[in-house]
Formats: sequence, structure tokens, C-alpha cells
Amino acid sequence: MAKVHNYSAGPCILDESVLKEAQAAVGNFDNLDLSLLEISHRSKNFVAVMDEATALVKEILNVPEGYSVIFLQGGASLGFLITVMNLMRENGKAAYTDTGAWANKAIKEAKLFGDVDVLGTSKDANYNFIPKDYTVPSDIDYFHCTSNNTIYGTQMKSFPECSVPLVCDMSSDIFSKSVDISQFDMIYAGAQKNLGPAGATLYIVKDAVFGRNGRSIPAYLDLHTHASKESMFNTPPVFSIYVSMLTLRWLKANGGIPWIEARNNEKAALLYNEIDRNTLFEGTANLEDRSDMNACFVLKDEAHKDAFDKLWNAAKINGIKGHRSVGGYRASMYNALPVESVQLLVDCMKELEKTA
Ligand SMILES: *Cc1c(COP(=O)(O)O)cnc(C)c1O
Repeated sequence: MAKVHNYSAGPCILDESVLKEAQAAVGNFDNLDLSLLEISHRSKNFVAVMDEATALVKEILNVPEGYSVIFLQGGASLGFLITVMNLMRENGKAAYTDTGAWANKAIKEAKLFGDVDVLGTSKDANYNFIPKDYTVPSDIDYFHCTSNNTIYGTQMKSFPECSVPLVCDMSSDIFSKSVDISQFDMIYAGAQKNLGPAGATLYIVKDAVFGRNGRSIPAYLDLHTHASKESMFNTPPVFSIYVSMLTLRWLKANGGIPWIEARNNEKAALLYNEIDRNTLFEGTANLEDRSDMNACFVLKDEAHKDAFDKLWNAAKINGIKGHRSVGGYRASMYNALPVESVQLLVDCMKELEKTA
């Protein structure tokens, strides 16, 4: 078990076995006496990595026929723009939900190129809930949502009925639970939350999207460019893709999505039960919208702050300071965080209650 219990919101914890293997590959990859970082991305050894990473994404998430899996650079932030370029027609129209800072940035990019209907917003409540009372119009190019709001600790538990293409930023909960990929025309996610180190961004896109909006798209922003070159149009982020592949191997070897979903449910229940039970704390997100990945909570009385901070620091817990726009604490419980780390945080909360 890690010496430090890493609750970082992203980049975040990776499994120790993955880090060890990555370390070895940086020294000597595939017994080539060369580092993974100094070989051609077109060498057969690296092409094998890309192929395996792509195949594992398809297998673990049960990606249906007719979809492409692509690894790009640029982060989810470039995904905001890539969404617009690939799915919006010239002077077209899209609908978005405004569920937080990331959703907002996605909306901003779309507004540069067309009309945006904001269907639901929880902005006035500092994004502490997921808006649900809206109907997705049928005369738009696509509907975009953010499945997990990393900063505010809210998560969509289901996706709305939708007769238009559905696009989702799944950066902070992809691979954490089962999703029906066939609902979506496009999913994108930065690697650095549940997949690997920063650098790669995963796209899962329906092939029917390619060319559909009839616009000329700059080569790098066109997902068809990358799908047709198997993510090798230009030099891919080799290290991030390699470590993502190792993480996917780890996930598969342990039982895939059913295993991780049960473990993530267990961790979330453990922490939220304590937040609700403990008289000194309260959660900041609406109960039914609470995120299984990022739990946001505050002390009811700030007077206990120093004592609590001392307790978790002594337990070698790291990264639970809340985002500046919410305050308090945020415990990010991504896939690689062990249940034991959550138990330790719960123990600190109980200890505070005893001594306060
Ligand atoms: C972290 C995050 C982003 C930003 O990702 P980058 O890869 O840094 O661009 C976007 N959306 C969500 C939901 C995130 O959690």
C-alpha cells in the first residue's frame, strides 16, 4: 500500500504495480536496451502498445461495432473544441447543460461557432446539484453534458432521453462504472483521472460522425484524421498511452468494470456514511447527485479545522483540500485509491468527533 494516501483530484493516484512497470519501461523497454521514451512511435514495439491500449478500451467498456477509439493530446480542454468542429454544422446549434466550471468552458468554445441552448444550470446554487427538468430539443446538432463534475462533487446517475447525438465529457468518471456506450455519439476524457498520467486524451466516437456536419475541419481537429491513422497521424503522447495501457491491463486482470464499480461503490458509501453520521461534518452536494469519485464536504464549525487538518496530515493523507470555489474538503476516490485509504480518512473524522 502507498506510503501516502493520495486523494489528489488530478493528475491522480495510479496503482503501484502500474508505476513500477512504467518505471522499468523508462529504463529498458521490451528488453530492447532502449527506453520507451526514446524509440520510434512507429516501431513495432510501440505500435503493439497502441493496439493493446485501443483493444483494452473496447473490451473493458464493451464498445460496440461502428465506433473508433482514439488517443490524442490537448486534454479534455481541446475536446471542448473538437466536439464543436466534428459535430456542429456551420452556424449550427447545440444544447449543453451547465453543471460546473468544465461544462462552462465547453459552452464557451461552442459559442464561438454557433448557437448554444443552455438547458439546465445549477450555477446559482454553486453547482451543488445536477439539473434534470429539461427536454433535449430535436432541432439541434448535438447535446453535450459532463458526467462528473470534479470540482463540485456531483455526478449524473443517468443520461436524458435524446433524439439528437449525445456527447459527454467523461474525464473524471470514465472506467469507474458501467456505461452503455451505444447511447453516445462521442465521449472524451483526459487520461489523468482514471486512466493514466496527463498527456493523452481518450475519444470514443461513432464512425457515423465522420464527415456528417459537412464542414472543413483542420486536420488535427478532425477525428477522422486520427481514426484513419490509428492515432498515429502525428507523434502520440507515448508515455501517457503506455501507462494508460498498463492501467487498463490492471483493471482487466482484477475483474474489469464489475470489480471496480463494486469497489468504488464501497469507497463512496464508506465516506458518505461517515459524512452524514458525523455531527461535525456535512456534504456540500445534493444527496441524489453525489459523485462516487469526488466527495466534497465541510466542517460545520471551522473552529475544528486545525485539529482535523493535523489528524489527516499525521495519517499521511494527501490532496483532500477542497477546490477554491467550494472550500472545505474534497476526497477524490479514483479507481486506484484503495478502500483502506478511505477507511483511514473515516477514522480521522471519527477521532476528531471523539476529541473535539
Ligand atoms: C479535469 C477535467 C477537465 C480538464 O481536463 P484537461 O485534460 O486538463 O484539459 C475537463 N473536464 C472534466 C470533467 C475534468 O474533470
